[in-house]
Amino acid sequence: MYSETHTNYLIIGGGSMGLAAADYLAAHSGTGGQHVARVLDAHRPPHDQGAHHGETRLIRLAYGEGGGYVSLALRALERWRELERETGESLFLPTGVLNLGPASAPFIQQVEASARQYDLPLDGLDGSAASERWPGWRLDASMRGGFESRAGVLRVERIIEFWRQRVERSANVTLTPGARVIGLEPLEQGGYVATCDDGRRFSADRLLVSAGQHLAPLLAELGIELPLTRVRKTFAWFEADERYATGRFPGFSLTDEALGTYYGFPDIDGAGFKIGRHDSGQSLASGETMAPFGEHPEDIAELQQVIDRYLPGVGALRHGTVCQYIRTPDEHFLIDEPLPGLIVAGGFSGHGFKFASAMGESLGRWLASGRAAPELAGFGMSRLSGRDSQGPLS
Ligand SMILES: Cc1cc2nc3c(=O)[nH]c(=O)nc-3n(C[C@H](O)[C@H](O)[C@H](O)COP(=O)(O)OP(=O)(O)OC[C@H]3O[C@@H](n4cnc5c(N)ncnc54)[C@H](O)[C@@H]3O)c2cc1C
Repeated sequence: MYSETHTNYLIIGGGSMGLAAADYLAAHSGTGGQHVARVLDAHRPPHDQGAHHGETRLIRLAYGEGGGYVSLALRALERWRELERETGESLFLPTGVLNLGPASAPFIQQVEASARQYDLPLDGLDGSAASERWPGWRLDASMRGGFESRAGVLRVERIIEFWRQRVERSANVTLTPGARVIGLEPLEQGGYVATCDDGRRFSADRLLVSAGQHLAPLLAELGIELPLTRVRKTFAWFEADERYATGRFPGFSLTDEALGTYYGFPDIDGAGFKIGRHDSGQSLASGETMAPFGEHPEDIAELQQVIDRYLPGVGALRHGTVCQYIRTPDEHFLIDEPLPGLIVAGGFSGHGFKFASAMGESLGRWLASGRAAPELAGFGMSRLSGRDSQGPLS
């Protein structure tokens, strides 16, 4: 029987959001060497058991998912730049991002509206002009493009590695890998206790649960139902000619009314041209093993159809992999404090990483102060029950 280890704050799930918050606490908990927080993770991040592997993530600012994200994206970009200065490494590649789709596509219209509302630079051009500028694209004039030169690519696994190393060096915050939480209970005197599958117990005054696929099952233990769906997603790297080299080809999002929604990256460090599908995917129960890339009949076919139609210099498949989205019904994030001192951050619906630097700051402050972050108010659960249908996200 293990005794209970107590800290002021406990973070369950030290992936993108949990480790970002831990890194913030490590840097802002004073210099007295006081141990304030512990992070529990089932694995040792970065790893390929969550949603943060695959080397790269896009960061866009003129946000197609809603103007309510723009301020957070701008703050996140500032914080990524800070992290680059602190580490001396290139973690953000300013490749630019080209958003492509029919002019009538809601995503394209929202990209343009977000740019107008926040006065963000966005080059609007039709498909023919985009093909002239980036010969890797074969587009006709029916397509609309919005190119954001300030957008780009984040090296997701390097970032998580840096955060983990900084937390491991910190006197104030401890990362405990190999700690799979299976139960949560409130304590009589206030606070909560988490129980791991090996019997270890960790208690704290305040808790952040950022445990990806296990967020909903853990909260269900406390009688709180979170409407989250786990979805299997794939992406892959392909051979590509010099038109797709970094500096000559931007990151992209692509909406095609018949083929679906896709995103992709130039060839970075010789890894190949990378592409994935954003919509659809196969639903999974939490804990269910994902079939490897290539086992589902659509894995390669859905990527190949986009390459065949739009990307004339992309060649043979090198390799692919599987990852997961944790989706909310409206695909906006779910961040709230459903019980006093219990903060949840999840449902990032396949577009959360770009915000992790700003999220870490907001969630870290929330944990430390006990005061909800106003900039995250639009992500609360009430919008999903229809109590607050006019959230600030759109
Ligand atoms: C294929 C793909 C492409 C994407 N592309 C982009 C993009 O271009 N731009 C973008 O902004 N975002 C993108 N995203 C989304 C982004 O990566 C995620 O939104 C983000 O990583 C989610 O962060 P998280 O902290 O919720 O999850 P994770 O980073 O997965 O962290 C969750 C952590 O919780 C731990 N955990 C789980 N259960 C337990 C438990 N019971 N006990 C202890 N620990 C536990 C896990 O081990 C993990 O470390 C993409 C995601 C995928 C899958």
